[in-house]
Amino acid sequence: MAIVSDHPSSHRSSSDPARRPGEEEILDWLQEDRPERLELLWRQADRVRHQNVGDAVHLRGLIEISNHCTRRCAYCGVRAPNRRARRYRMTPQQILECVHLAVERGFGTVVLQSGEDPRHTGGWVADLVGRIKGETPLAVTLSLGERTAEDLVLWRQAGADRYLLRFETSNRELYDRVHPPAKGTVSDRIALLRLLREIGYEVGSGIMIGLWGQSWQDLATDIALFAKLDLDMIGLGPYIPHPDTPMAQHPDRYRLPPERQVPADELTTHKALALARILCPEVNIPATTAMTTINPEQGLELALSRGANVFMPNLTPDDHRARYTIYPSKTSLVHRDEESYHHLQHRLQALGREVGAGRGDSVRYSRRHP
Ligand code: SAH
Repeated sequence: MAIVSDHPSSHRSSSDPARRPGEEEILDWLQEDRPERLELLWRQADRVRHQNVGDAVHLRGLIEISNHCTRRCAYCGVRAPNRRARRYRMTPQQILECVHLAVERGFGTVVLQSGEDPRHTGGWVADLVGRIKGETPLAVTLSLGERTAEDLVLWRQAGADRYLLRFETSNRELYDRVHPPAKGTVSDRIALLRLLREIGYEVGSGIMIGLWGQSWQDLATDIALFAKLDLDMIGLGPYIPHPDTPMAQHPDRYRLPPERQVPADELTTHKALALARILCPEVNIPATTAMTTINPEQGLELALSRGANVFMPNLTPDDHRARYTIYPSKTSLVHRDEESYHHLQHRLQALGREVGAGRGDSVRYSRRHP
């Protein structure tokens, strides 16, 4: 079945593998450059988004709770060996203050994200989640990296609803090179995603577009894997080099020859976004910070018109937010003040979209758990 259909009313289902487009077709679309063909791709993605998840844009309050990290990911600015990163860790009181700001703004979800911080023990995070669930009606999403099954179960029991863990790339050799395992362990994010599903989380994953060493074929396989994993949420954004990382400092060790290397640009990111929407019609897909960082003026509008249905305003206090530098020049379209939130509402209204009410659970997940 073609990715772009001529029948606007046709309803495709990602649960029917026979109807799932193959990697070859994905690959063709990724390398498509004719504007009139791409216009068809954007229109199809927007139609599939409208038909399956509607016009509401769900807002998630993002809280970057710590930039301490024990890992050595070659692409990430908060990697352990980066001595120039100024480290911080928010206290539970500071985090709860942000959580209450999310309630005040009418958001349905908070997302707690951090490096792999050894002080975030299973018990510490479980207490925090328990307090948020006890004090507010919010859905809680965790994005705390690779953790033990024991911790993940504990947090789910404490009330955590969702977990985000990008597999970053489906190319195992590239993954091992850019994402070395913690000492004495094997890093298998695909296995962790399956475990998260079994534990009962709403599960999100994703990739970076144009990560150095990523080929067109790799990217096509990544997108096909989204559908195979039957995810509830998909997050993607362009790779943005951070000067204090090995990847940015030694491009020759990582980059492929130009004809094979996927560019980390907006157009390629949007092709991947549109294809993810078409292949996984019922998932939640955010317009990510990386997308708005590379295009602060129009990145939000373009992403929401090419498949995205979620946005994550950053509620981290400014001094901490400035230090959560996984990549440089990270923008924040919405700040903590009310005025910038109203500005966001106007931008959504101008697009003919409204702020979503309630928790904004994934349609995919709700179908699985009627
Ligand atoms: N420690 C958590 C959260 C990491 S930050 C984890 O590893 O899951 C969330 C995402 O930011 C990562 O999964 C990665 O896809 C993205 N990211 C990290 N460094 C980046 C960079 N230099 N450019 C673009 N995205 C980056």
